[in-house]
Amino acid sequence: VNSSLSAHQIEVRHSLKPCLFINNEWHKSKSGKTFATINPTTEECIAEIQESDKEDIDIAVKAARSAFQLGSPWRRMDASERGRLIYRLADLMERDQVYLSSLETLDNGKPYNMSYNVDLPLSIKNLRYFAGWADKNHGKTIPMDGDFFAYTRHEPVGVCGQVIPWNFPILMMAWKLGPALATGNTIVLKPAEQTSLTALYIAQLVKEAGFPEGVVNVVPGFGEAGAILANHADVDKLAFTGSTEVGKLIQLASGNTNLKRVTLELGGKSPNIILSDTDLDYAVETAHFGLFFNMGQCCCAGSRTFVEDKIYDEFVERSAERAKKRTLGNPFDLKTEQGPQVNQEQMEKILCMIKQGEKQGAKLVAGGSRPEDLPGYFVQPTVFADVKDDMTIAREEIFGPVQQLIRFKKLDEVIERANNSDYGLAAAVFTKDLDKANYIVGGLRAGTVWVNTYNVLPAQAPFGGYKMSGHGRENGEYALSNYTEVKSVIVKVAQKNS
Ligand code: NAP
Ligand code: MG
Repeated sequence: VNSSLSAHQIEVRHSLKPCLFINNEWHKSKSGKTFATINPTTEECIAEIQESDKEDIDIAVKAARSAFQLGSPWRRMDASERGRLIYRLADLMERDQVYLSSLETLDNGKPYNMSYNVDLPLSIKNLRYFAGWADKNHGKTIPMDGDFFAYTRHEPVGVCGQVIPWNFPILMMAWKLGPALATGNTIVLKPAEQTSLTALYIAQLVKEAGFPEGVVNVVPGFGEAGAILANHADVDKLAFTGSTEVGKLIQLASGNTNLKRVTLELGGKSPNIILSDTDLDYAVETAHFGLFFNMGQCCCAGSRTFVEDKIYDEFVERSAERAKKRTLGNPFDLKTEQGPQVNQEQMEKILCMIKQGEKQGAKLVAGGSRPEDLPGYFVQPTVFADVKDDMTIAREEIFGPVQQLIRFKKLDEVIERANNSDYGLAAAVFTKDLDKANYIVGGLRAGTVWVNTYNVLPAQAPFGGYKMSGHGRENGEYALSNYTEVKSVIVKVAQKNS
């Protein structure tokens, strides 16, 4: 850790145990197997982590089931008290913000500046937002025909499996824990194999906050561990964020077992539409941010930038210039904008997609390979011009720092081309003309549309996909329905006392 960080006082309140967290205790895996977690900046091993498999996950699911039993401390707890515990967890994360941000940067490679100023504040705010919902998610009283009245109860679904990815390890954990806990569920969470460390540290904070045992369990491991949860007959719900390919397997697993509820937040190939009347400097900078943020490892990355014909050439030139200025290097250096990709596999996949882009005739105007002067899994900020809709780089998720600039002429044409994708997670439009903005917003098939901005992901607004970007909505009031069953209660009303 370099000097820019030592300015901060790092206080470590808990020793980090690279183990399974079940019933508020640390356990070794039954098999004794471990796996390495690698620092992507140095390619060195940080720690060996206990690997969960079937036997361990059965134990974790039993713990979560038992914490969910009627009469358990968690089920008897007032909703306002559940909210208080979630607030407390958020406070503890804030207390340990420097440590958690450092650990996130070490394990994931994202700039510390981002972990500390983006990931942690968003995660903490998200938990606080859902803490507030704990005692406000109520049903309805419904007028009905006959001598009856009806009301609804919003009840927890039960034991929730949560499988999360490596691009925003803490934030994705917060997005999953907040609504599930606010609504009274219990949890078995599997972090991504590349980035388990912060989830394990947060598990310790869950205990410190005072959650009863078995309410939150964390089982590090590989995809197989996720698959065991997805196939588990005693898991009532599975929430997943990751690739569309795995999302399909999870939905199938539900069908093959107990029809557990499934919510999926999957890939994207999000269109970012730039009209010629926009402020060019602002649009170039925001489109750059919309793609290169988090090393391009964002499900909602603006990876198809459609630019109106009239400003296309100038936009290409300025975007290439901006990308060439992007600062790469040690993610603990506060000036660093871009760290390494999360692992070697991702880096190689990205480099391979870049080769394909060149082969299919796109014009490389910035980057294109690994930087020569850096160890670690870095990829140069890369910009392609003259990208055509049917090229692989315009159809498939790259999940890396590779921007595609595509030319268009007419509004209806660009709406149709923007929608011509299996995905529908996010989109954006840049224009000063409100009528055009509204017209495009109405035409796009995407779960989020940003107007004159990008990557704004507040706790209050729902987020999720159309089409093969998944289903269900995280964040906002809508997220509560991911974690509740609605029970109708119909009561006979006597007309008179006899
Ligand atoms: P992934 O395989 O979908 O991983 C996401 C999570 O699912 C991880 O915890 C993973 O465990 C787990 N998993 C893997 N196979 C599973 C299975 N059969 N059943 C249940 N859970 C399973 O994603 P990836 O391989 O890390 O990345 C591949 C591509 O997915 C990326 O290039 C990117 O395009 C996309 N992706 C999207 C997002 C997003 O935010 N939507 C996030 C990450 C990746 P392991 O860690 O052991 O694999
Ligand atoms: Mg995978």
